[in-house]
Amino acid sequence: MAHTLPPLPYDPGALEPHIDAATMRIHHGKHHQTYVDKLNAALEGYSDLQAMPLEDLLRGIGAVPGVIRTAVRNHGGGHANHSIFWANMAPNGEGDPTGPLANALTQAFGSVEKFRTDFTNTAVGVFGSGWAWLVADGATLKIVARPNQDSPLMDGLAPLLGLDVWEHAYYLKYQNRRSEYVNAWWNVVNWGDVEDRFKDVADRYSASGGA
Ligand code: MN
Repeated sequence: MAHTLPPLPYDPGALEPHIDAATMRIHHGKHHQTYVDKLNAALEGYSDLQAMPLEDLLRGIGAVPGVIRTAVRNHGGGHANHSIFWANMAPNGEGDPTGPLANALTQAFGSVEKFRTDFTNTAVGVFGSGWAWLVADGATLKIVARPNQDSPLMDGLAPLLGLDVWEHAYYLKYQNRRSEYVNAWWNVVNWGDVEDRFKDVADRYSASGGA
């Protein structure tokens, strides 16, 4: 079964003025579509891999045949990362995390505000193209940077919140001013989605007996 582009969960202009409609259209309809297409092309002829959920494919990247491993890493990673990225955002998504996620952020970083500062610094500091992520490492929350389209899933981490800092994510509106883009992006973070992902991870973790 071929991988497909998930529809944007809102209108391309819905995140204005923080993220512009033209960027969203190109980013979703062209960039993300290309990752999907190239992932499908790489998997052609590998029916066992085609049948695997994307997350499992990335978690087991080391078992993917060497001849297609880089393509799966780049394009499968791109597909997974962007699928999370769209869902991580929402119009009028600003505000603060609540409940268990807020508690876990406070425990890991000192405060929600300190988490924002650390995450912002990580995102602004990514050299070249890549991502900043809030991930769960077992029961522990961490901020990590990843180059290119590397997925945290490949390192056994559970991605909760990702910020794309490739220039294609912001150049039309912000040109070289990545920190302006990062600061604007906080206004469209969909904390409800991040809280749902955190709950899934926490539930899986306790079901596994903390393994
Ligand atoms: Mn992107």
